[in-house]
Amino acid sequence: MFSDKDIAHFSKLETPFYYYDLNLLESTLKACKKAADTYKFHVHYAMKANFNPIVLKKIEAIGFGADCVSGGEVKKAIDVGFKRKKVVFAGVGKSDKEINDALDNDIFCFNVESVQELSVINELAEKKQKKAKVAIRINPNVDAHTHANITTGLDENKFGVNSWDMPACAAVLNISPNLEFIGIHFHIGSQITNMDVYKNLCVRVNEFATWFEDHGFKVTVLNVGGGLGIDYHNPDQQIPNFETYFKIFADFLEVKPYQEVHFELGRALVGQSASLISRVLYVKNGKKKNFIILDAGMTELMRPALYQAYHKIENLSQSKIVNAESESVRYDVVGPICESTDCFGKEVELQESFRNDLIAIRSTGAYGEVMASHYNLRETVQTVSSEDLN
Ligand SMILES: *Cc1c(COP(=O)(O)O)cnc(C)c1O
Repeated sequence: MFSDKDIAHFSKLETPFYYYDLNLLESTLKACKKAADTYKFHVHYAMKANFNPIVLKKIEAIGFGADCVSGGEVKKAIDVGFKRKKVVFAGVGKSDKEINDALDNDIFCFNVESVQELSVINELAEKKQKKAKVAIRINPNVDAHTHANITTGLDENKFGVNSWDMPACAAVLNISPNLEFIGIHFHIGSQITNMDVYKNLCVRVNEFATWFEDHGFKVTVLNVGGGLGIDYHNPDQQIPNFETYFKIFADFLEVKPYQEVHFELGRALVGQSASLISRVLYVKNGKKKNFIILDAGMTELMRPALYQAYHKIENLSQSKIVNAESESVRYDVVGPICESTDCFGKEVELQESFRNDLIAIRSTGAYGEVMASHYNLRETVQTVSSEDLN
C-alpha cells in the first residue's frame, strides 16, 4: 500500500524503477529471525533472490548466513560482510575456478550435487592441502506442488543426487581424505504454499539422515533448503507466516542433540518488499483487446514471461482519484520489448488508465531486479528505497 506522499514522490522520478520498502524488509527479517530462534534454527539467505547491496546489508546485519549458487555470489557475500563461516555454496555445475575460489575463501560448506563433483572437490582441495566441508544435496523425489518451472526435487529434475546414488556417494566419501562430510541438503522448489509438502520433505530427510548414520557418517547438518511462498494476490498481506512454517519442521523432523537445522529462504524474506514502478506510455483500445503499454518490460521483470508468474498490478494515479463514475476496464498490460511474451498480465481489471499514469507491479522483491537484462539494449533498471524518500 502506498501513501499519497509516496505517490507524490514517485511522480517526480524517472521510471521505471524498483522501489524497496526497507521498513517492511526489516520487519520481515525480524519476524523470521524470531520464529527461527524459537527452535534454534539457522537461516542462510538465498542470495539469488535479490543481491542488491541495500538488501544484503540488512540481511547480514540481522545475523543470517548466505546461500550462494555461483562463484560470483560467494564473492559478493564476502564483500558485503557475510562471515565466511556462514557462506554455503550450492549449484549443479560448479566450475573448477568457482570451487578453487571457494576453497581459498574457507567457506562453511559445499552443497554437492553429483557423485562426480565430490571427487573433483576432493582433488582440488588436496592440491591446496585443505579439507573441504561437504553436504550432499539429495533429490528426495518430493513434489513441491508449485509451477513446473520452479520444481527442483523430482527424479526428472537436474538438481541434487538421486536416492539410488547414495551408496556411490558413500564410497567416494570413504576414499576422499580431503572431504569432511557434515550433512545432507535438500531444496525441492520455490513458491511453495502447501505446508503438507514440507511434512513430506521432513519424512524423507529423516530417512536419509538415518541411512547416512547407519553407514557410519555423522550427520551434523540437516539443511532443508527454502521455497516458502508469498501471497502474490495480496501484496499488502506482507509478512509470511514463519511461525507455521518453522513449526512444521520442529514437529516432523527428528533432530538429534548434536544436529543443526539449516534453512535457505529467499523469496519469503524479500519478495513483498519491492514494487516495480512504471508509467503508462500508451493506451491502445482495440476491438478485442485493450492494451496498456508500459515503460517497463520483461527486461526489468522477467517472471511473467519466464514462468507465467502472476503479479498484482495497480494504477497508482487513478486509485487516488475518488470518482464514482470511474469505470474499470480490462487491459492487457504489456511492455515495450519486441517479444509477445513481454506481458505483465492479461485481462487485468484496472481503473480507466491514461498516458503517464503511474503503475505499480507488486511483490517484485524476489527474482525481479536480479533477472533484469539489457535485451533490446535497455538501460540498467534503477533502484529507489524508502530511505531515499525521507
Ligand atoms: C533458489 C534456492 C533457494 C531459495 O528458494 P526460495 O524459493 O527463494 O526460498 C534455496 N536453496 C537453493 C539451493 C536454491 O537454489
